Amino acid sequence: MKKHNFNAGPSILPREVIENAAQAILDFNGSGLSLMEISHRAKDFQPVVDEAVALFKELLNIPEGYSVLFLGGGASMEFCMVPYNFLEKKAAYLNTGTWAKKAMKEAKGFGETIEVASSEKDGYTYIPKNYEVPADADYFHITTNNTIYGTELHADPDVNVPLVGDMSSDIFSRPVDVSKYICIYGGAQKNLAPAGVTFVIVKNDALGKVSRYIPTMLNYQTHVDKGSMFNTPPVVPIYVALQTLRWVKAQGGVEEMQRRAQARAKLLYDEIDRNKLFRGTVTNVEDRSLMNICFVMADEYKDLEADFLKFATERGMVGIKGHRSVGGFRASCYNALPIESVQALVDCMQEFEKLH
Ligand code: PMP
Repeated sequence: MKKHNFNAGPSILPREVIENAAQAILDFNGSGLSLMEISHRAKDFQPVVDEAVALFKELLNIPEGYSVLFLGGGASMEFCMVPYNFLEKKAAYLNTGTWAKKAMKEAKGFGETIEVASSEKDGYTYIPKNYEVPADADYFHITTNNTIYGTELHADPDVNVPLVGDMSSDIFSRPVDVSKYICIYGGAQKNLAPAGVTFVIVKNDALGKVSRYIPTMLNYQTHVDKGSMFNTPPVVPIYVALQTLRWVKAQGGVEEMQRRAQARAKLLYDEIDRNKLFRGTVTNVEDRSLMNICFVMADEYKDLEADFLKFATERGMVGIKGHRSVGGFRASCYNALPIESVQALVDCMQEFEKLH
């Protein structure tokens, strides 16, 4: 039976990316060696990093003066690296979900941290609006897509201080105005690569402004100076990231990724809104994520949750159970997910409706 992969992360990657990676794991560039058994300093590997950096810059239209880094540690490591490197006096955070709150918690260890707005008391069912960011903040941190709650900032906010963005779960799904940011980071394990590599886009002249000592490995400048080769980078995930970046470019770039994401999301949200059995969880329709589509059984049909999960699983749906902190269902629709998989889920919802 065909599987439809709605996993939230690690998650679906394009088939050809996986095939290319499989081939390189058997024989990297005809070298007779596996990608897993070469040095990161092998002359054949440097071009992989160089091309991945170049494609990041091209696909996201990154202006001059920014570096692209491939690090370890996950997005969670960036929660502390960001304040380590940028927080001198004060930082501002928008609390839109579990990950945003975890990022804010780390900043508190480094200096004054202002929560400018929060939707926590309402179960993170919308993105707060009409907040004011202190003009003397060193940066304003946003989580552009809230993977667990299914809300998303669809555009880069206009504020009077530089932005820092956690784009773990929506990178390469829309054009980004990078010039508004001093730092964009994320775990790669959604739209880019398997787990194990963290991407960071950093504005060079925003570095070196804090007075504290920064441990060598946690200092972005170290990795900028060494081109992500200060220590051994995650070779295999970087190689896979390169394959995905080539795929994104060949498909038509981030504009095409955005068009597909909008089409997938419309198909599924329209069904959630139409089908009497289901209800979307995000209260502000404009804040609905195109990447993580969250829904529950409508109140009168609450008892059917386990039945629907079983029904859908038997028809090939994978990974649609909601995050353990939210419940219900979450269909993650990342770049590599074909619209046919969303159609299969919609068909499943309609069939299930006919039975009840
Ligand atoms: N931020 C967001 C928005 C996430 O979705 C996740 C993981 N799902 C993280 C941060 C944490 O990433 P990691 O596991 O790479 O530390």
